Amino acid sequence: MILTMADPVQKEKRHVAMFPSAGMGHFMPFLHLARTLAIRHGFAVTFITAAQNVSPTETAHVQRLAASGLDIHIVKLQINKSQEAEGDPFFAQWEATKASMPAFENLLTSDLLKQTPPVSAIITDPVLTPTLSIAAKFNIPTYVLYPSSAFNLGFMLHAPIADAQGFDFSDEKAVLQIPGFPALGATQIPQAFKVKDHIFRRIFLASGSEVPKASGIFVNTFEELEQQCLQSLRSRHDLPPVYAIGPLFLPSEDSSTWDDEAERRCLKWLDAQPAKSVVYVSFGSRSAMSAAQIRELALGLEMSEQRFLWVLRTSVVDGAGSVEAPVPGGFEERVGERGMIVSCWVPQVKILSHVSTAAFVSHCGWNSVVEGLCCGVPILAWPLFGDQMMNASIVVENAKAGSEVRKGEDGIVSREEVASGVKAIVQREDLTRAAIGLQQRGRIAIIEGGLSDKSLKAAFQLSK
Ligand code: UDP
Repeated sequence: MILTMADPVQKEKRHVAMFPSAGMGHFMPFLHLARTLAIRHGFAVTFITAAQNVSPTETAHVQRLAASGLDIHIVKLQINKSQEAEGDPFFAQWEATKASMPAFENLLTSDLLKQTPPVSAIITDPVLTPTLSIAAKFNIPTYVLYPSSAFNLGFMLHAPIADAQGFDFSDEKAVLQIPGFPALGATQIPQAFKVKDHIFRRIFLASGSEVPKASGIFVNTFEELEQQCLQSLRSRHDLPPVYAIGPLFLPSEDSSTWDDEAERRCLKWLDAQPAKSVVYVSFGSRSAMSAAQIRELALGLEMSEQRFLWVLRTSVVDGAGSVEAPVPGGFEERVGERGMIVSCWVPQVKILSHVSTAAFVSHCGWNSVVEGLCCGVPILAWPLFGDQMMNASIVVENAKAGSEVRKGEDGIVSREEVASGVKAIVQREDLTRAAIGLQQRGRIAIIEGGLSDKSLKAAFQLSK
């Protein structure tokens, strides 16, 4: 950034550094917030990623941000590749990002604090809490952008307390009662958290203890969606202010616009379908299913006789698929024009807001929940792991804008269950009405300068 000290506009301008962790679910809200801060509030934004850290989709999104013409600058921290962990690519990415903390401190002191304007705030990821103590050395206020629900945030903050009190998370009969929150049954607690030395458990417990040290916590949610959880968080005296800044996506500026063949094919196919007739089926950026489950899902969609657009992901990260011939033989011929299957990255918000889309079969990653509800689309919740079970309960219990599939004892959702769930989600007007109600509240929050603007203004003490 080449700026002169004499420029009064630049003297007023704020400069914030943003540092997301790995995974599209973390990345997306950071991208949207970066754009919001630059477009609406005139901030200069430094967007930090760890080199070798991001997946191809993340890289493509960052390139688009860099080319957006906004005052957003991308910095890639160099890390030592040998420090990357083996195994699940998400954890490998997380280890790599964590290993870049010395480079982050160096970036602050040698560059970001020397710029005009110097960086005056940091927005970090809840799993990158070492950034909090680094920023504290230089008295830079640091905010955490929580990429999941307020309900899940409550769990993260309470987990170290419950753990210290000896709560047995692996007890399948135990119920965790977080003050002011809905009771949490064993099936809602992330499976990995129940394994004593699992890396996820370590990250989560460490984050739960550190996040309260932030200057403020931003959550991609809004009052009408999670009132009780937000109120409970705000009543805790040991926490910094909790700001509901969601829904964090900008339908009119959908940054996932891809000028490629797959996008054109999806949207062209949707354009040709009757209004409110299509069920969009997607399990997020990193959820692959077993071959047996893919088969049941395919046969269930066929039995449902509904039109569908199915994003069939067969590898754990957000790349293209890898399972050989996953759908049953003859399926595509039998379904014909009624269904479309893609295995690439699709413009989800455009699909959800398309006039032909009637319902969403979702794994309930938090971004997908917020996007679905704020597009007025009811959700057939099919949580798989992590925070998804808690998020599903918000869809069903709080928002009353969806229902949840039932899994069999083998953990598989049968074709009959898929077919009846899909039919019901399209036909039940009460669920659609509830989703449309939330869409309106969400619109007020994003488009008309409602909650997200108010919260950001309060957090950064902006006068206009
Ligand atoms: N997404 C998308 N196209 C895809 C898959 C995902 O645009 O093909 C976006 C989706 O809109 C959401 C994010 O990627 O913003 C996924 O985040 P979420 O929290 O829903 O689930 P995760 O992928 O983290 O499990």
